[in-house]
Amino acid sequence: QIEEWRKLRDQATVSADGVHVELAANIGTPNDVPGVIDNGGEAVGLYRTEFLYMGRDKLPTEEIQFNAYKTVLEKMEGKPVVVRTLDIGGDKELPYLDLPKEMNPFLGFRAVRLCLDRTDIFRTQLRALLRASVYGNLRIMFPMIATLDEFRQAKALLLEEKDKLAAEGIEVSDEIQLGIMVEIPSTAIIADQFAKEVDFFSIGTNDLIQYTMAADRMNERVSYLYQPYNPAILRLVKMVIDAAHKEGKWAGMCGEMAGDATAIPLLLGLGLDEFSMSATSILPARSQISKLSKADMAELAAKALTMQTAAQVVELVKSIDA
Ligand code: PEP
Ligand code: MG
Repeated sequence: QIEEWRKLRDQATVSADGVHVELAANIGTPNDVPGVIDNGGEAVGLYRTEFLYMGRDKLPTEEIQFNAYKTVLEKMEGKPVVVRTLDIGGDKELPYLDLPKEMNPFLGFRAVRLCLDRTDIFRTQLRALLRASVYGNLRIMFPMIATLDEFRQAKALLLEEKDKLAAEGIEVSDEIQLGIMVEIPSTAIIADQFAKEVDFFSIGTNDLIQYTMAADRMNERVSYLYQPYNPAILRLVKMVIDAAHKEGKWAGMCGEMAGDATAIPLLLGLGLDEFSMSATSILPARSQISKLSKADMAELAAKALTMQTAAQVVELVKSIDA
């Protein structure tokens, strides 16, 4: 099996009936990039930039950020790199920001909500990203978008910084795709409207599941409700993918579900274009997909959407390799 995976390392990801999908990796720092390449990653699908902000006693400067982004882009040699702007708050704290304690941190002041308020922090990050954009294939993604207004505001700030750089004579790529994480149900539900304005979606199932099921992803006592295969989740995922495709955009997934062997047949069948996962899951996933017919998986997924429980969906998926 290890032999087979090694052979797959330098190959594209193609289903048994000849459909290409992209297998990307989630990373936290530039040091993770060699692992992406070793494991045959076709892209970075999620660069969680919050680690740049954590483990220090003040905000990272524009220069520190620029160097990190440039390193990742260069090491990926022109392959796509989706950088997620700061997603702090929730379970991830930054002591030096001195934010008040909240009753429900996961429902509180985090990610793009904080960035749209502390625009000084956000603008510095956007500037660093824009400057780094000429060193590779940069895609920028905003986390925790709940409304179209938030997306428009964040995009406006990005365009302002781009204009400022242009005025300073600093070169910025004109090919930067701009997308959002779909991890809040409100956004999945009006994905058709978002799809007209974004370049891509990346479905963040880690949060999408917790918000849809109202089950804290860190709370053991309600973990039985944390159900990736619940038909409610699958229907939301389908809505997002269909909405993207209707506007000629691509849809990826960067939550844990994207690398899950039970979910992969369903996601392939629902038409997911990009699967972003931990680097070590890429070759097993590529091997699995090479043995699945996308047309057959579309039938399987259609059936799954009519199931009543997550357990029934799991049983249905297991039946394909029986
Ligand atoms: C997600 O919510 O699915 C996601 C990828 O983001 P994070 O796990 O960093 O919240
Ligand atoms: Mg998330």
